[in-house]
Amino acid sequence: MPLDLQATEAVRRRMQRTSRKDNPFERSIRSQLHARGLRYRIHYPIPGMKRTTCDFAFPGLKIAVFLDGCFWHGCEVHPPSVKKNTEFWLAKIERNRARDVRATAHLTELGWTVLRFWEHEQTDAIVTRIASVVETRRDRHLTALRAR
Ligand SMILES: [Zn+2]
Repeated sequence: MPLDLQATEAVRRRMQRTSRKDNPFERSIRSQLHARGLRYRIHYPIPGMKRTTCDFAFPGLKIAVFLDGCFWHGCEVHPPSVKKNTEFWLAKIERNRARDVRATAHLTELGWTVLRFWEHEQTDAIVTRIASVVETRRDRHLTALRAR
């Protein structure tokens, strides 16, 4: 196979792995949270931002979780290696990163807690972190309700 076609094939495979909603990384995190009794909404639309969702959310507690694929979100530990249409891919990744920054800023302004994780991070550590933030928020939420 010619070299440029191989690159195209590699890009295609990577897209299949991480661009899809519901990729194995997301599913693994979600099933571990579910096993811990945590209930969330998946692909939750970000209030006030068109066509933008978080990977999942705890809307009552205003917690948004993003699980960022290393390629698509431009992880610096794993710089993208694309041999074909480099400009195109880099521009696309740059746009994704800009949108990530906007979404985080927007949600933070609305009083949400935003949790972002990279695909390369340990899933156990991610799950523990999310669970602990949920617990803290829930406690604060209950205290606020009781104080009314
Ligand atoms: Zn990475």
